[in-house]
Amino acid sequence: MYPTIQKNAYGKINIGLDVLRKREDGYHEVRMIMQTVTLFDRLHVTVIPNDTINIETNLSFLPTNENNLVYSAVKLLKDEFSIKEGLSIKLDKYIPVAAGMAGGSADAAAALEIMNELFSLGLTQSNLMERAVKLGADVPYCIMKGTALSEGIGEILTPLPPLTDCFILIVKPNIHVSTKYVYENLRLDTITSHPDIDGIIYDIRRKDIRGMALKMNNVLESVTEKDYPVICQIKNLMIAQGAIHSIMSGSGPTVFGIFQSHSAIEKAHRFFREDYPMYKSYIVKPIRP
Ligand code: ATP
Repeated sequence: MYPTIQKNAYGKINIGLDVLRKREDGYHEVRMIMQTVTLFDRLHVTVIPNDTINIETNLSFLPTNENNLVYSAVKLLKDEFSIKEGLSIKLDKYIPVAAGMAGGSADAAAALEIMNELFSLGLTQSNLMERAVKLGADVPYCIMKGTALSEGIGEILTPLPPLTDCFILIVKPNIHVSTKYVYENLRLDTITSHPDIDGIIYDIRRKDIRGMALKMNNVLESVTEKDYPVICQIKNLMIAQGAIHSIMSGSGPTVFGIFQSHSAIEKAHRFFREDYPMYKSYIVKPIRP
């Protein structure tokens, strides 16, 4: 029997997303409030004697070669530590793909953690985060998890106190939005309303969910809402269904709303399932690291 490790890879939402400027190297400097939620992919990784990396996934359109972030993550540590064995990986995807929930980054983070355990590499969390940034700007956060302020290009992380109990409804319309397209079409000079990130942090610290939710804002909506009115429509429906407030996560198209009671979110979830069955919808909760 060869050793196997299974792990959940949790998705995230952005409680607030601001873009400060475009750097000379083309990257955007951001200020975002990140929150891990209970929607997850599942990775099963088994050591095999022959020196290959095999990935099997339930989504036929996902790459299973070096273009899959799980492959790159495993290869990174395999090369650095000259690991001769191979890996057989089963990736069960549940986080919507290319949806602004960092599904691929979460998978890559989980793959690094699994490699560390399977081969007793002795890497600390910060050692893993240093390597994670080579795979993508959100991957270090996916190792840290929980509630955090993310700055720089996403790699400068400050942990924040956990969100107190609140209920989050995620609704994902069936459209695809490329992150690259959104950033390329962002016109920072035309944005009049930036999120009050410091105000959100203040509310999180004093456990004022309502205050926090009312301050939620995402500057990337200025690009996506123009091209995809469905995003604004879902936000309005969420609020009409009782959400304190609703915004898009990341570069979209996933929209989420924050609710204060279990009964309110159940009712809203039923509404979306019955009246908009073409959208995916999930009730999730914030989780701690
Ligand atoms: P972010 O919130 O970081 O912008 P995202 O939700 O927009 O992420 P992902 O779901 O991570 O996007 O996927 C973006 C692209 O990355 C997909 O089009 C897909 O082909 C590729 N990809 C590579 N590996 C994975 C993976 N393990 N899971 C999902 N997508 C992956």
